Amino acid sequence: LYNQVQDLKGNIRVYCRVRPLHGQVRGFGSVEHLDEGSITITTPSKYGKEGKKSFTFNRVFGPSASQEEVFSDTQPLIRSVLDGFNVCIFAYGQTGSGKTHTMSGPDVLTPETMGVNYRALNDLFLISEQRKDIFLYDVSVQMIEIYNEQVRDLLATDGLNKRLEIRNSSQSGLNVPDANLVTVTSTSDVINLMNLGQKNRAVGSTAMNDRSSRSHSCLTVHVQGRDLASGAVLRGCMHLVDLAGSERVDKSEAVGERLKEAQHINKSLSALGDVIASLAQKNSHVPYRNSKLTQLLQDSLGGQAKTLMFVHISPEYDAIGETLSTLKFAERVSSV
Ligand code: ADP
Ligand code: MG
Repeated sequence: LYNQVQDLKGNIRVYCRVRPLHGQVRGFGSVEHLDEGSITITTPSKYGKEGKKSFTFNRVFGPSASQEEVFSDTQPLIRSVLDGFNVCIFAYGQTGSGKTHTMSGPDVLTPETMGVNYRALNDLFLISEQRKDIFLYDVSVQMIEIYNEQVRDLLATDGLNKRLEIRNSSQSGLNVPDANLVTVTSTSDVINLMNLGQKNRAVGSTAMNDRSSRSHSCLTVHVQGRDLASGAVLRGCMHLVDLAGSERVDKSEAVGERLKEAQHINKSLSALGDVIASLAQKNSHVPYRNSKLTQLLQDSLGGQAKTLMFVHISPEYDAIGETLSTLKFAERVSSV
């Protein structure tokens, strides 16, 4: 049971998802998918030598891929959490590229449009039910936000101003022991919590200033299973991370608060890239300490843990600069 993860090839996987074009705008004109595993785009001359460039990933999902299809390749990871492994699933990409769509889904949730978060928890409940004669599972969740290198509790019911500390290898096994930890037993419990999290995340945003795109949000699912025969306890956890938008902010335009945010995002996304790239290259030193995000996830990145990165790209012609830098980031963290 503990080793039912052979179907996961490698510990780091990178999937690329291209969202559909919105309305009548100009697309790349030349996005090609080969073998469902690579993507080719034509680079205009202003981004270096004009020509076609291909990138290879574990999977490429085109604009017509359904939420269900995207999730089906993720399912083995969910099973491994119940076997006691740690898992991180990330959504990376510029603002508007579809990160929240992949992780949570659109605002109106129907079974068809639910994102990875809901489907993952659904699966956890289903599989733990199937195993109920062997294991007794306890599932609980935390939801935090990292904004300007400060950690806040998105499930706080008493205001949000408290800054939380990250403690690696605390007694409780929780890296953010002071964040509200809520036991869940059904998908509707999860939906209620996510709604609370969304509401809390919106605090501090205005119409002109959608803060959610400039913070990382992390839903952490803690699973504890007790072997009913032996009494042995196993623990697994899964972090589902909707990252801050990866777009470069024009230094000449961003001032004050915006500039500070941009610098924090830039720093933490590069720290994440450095950690995953050094794991993919099997380096002996992994630089976890360079950001709150990598500190938080330290014991779920590397070792026996499994990592899945969804990189999102927008198909608009105007987005090509960001698309190229997203694909380069993805190429760097990919061990393919
Ligand atoms: P991000 O979280 O990266 O800023 P969103 O997930 O909010 O981006 O996506 C931007 C818009 O595009 C939203 O209206 C979303 O519903 C839509 N969208 C994104 N991906 C898809 C997709 N695969 N299919 C349909 N609509 C999508
Ligand atoms: Mg979003």
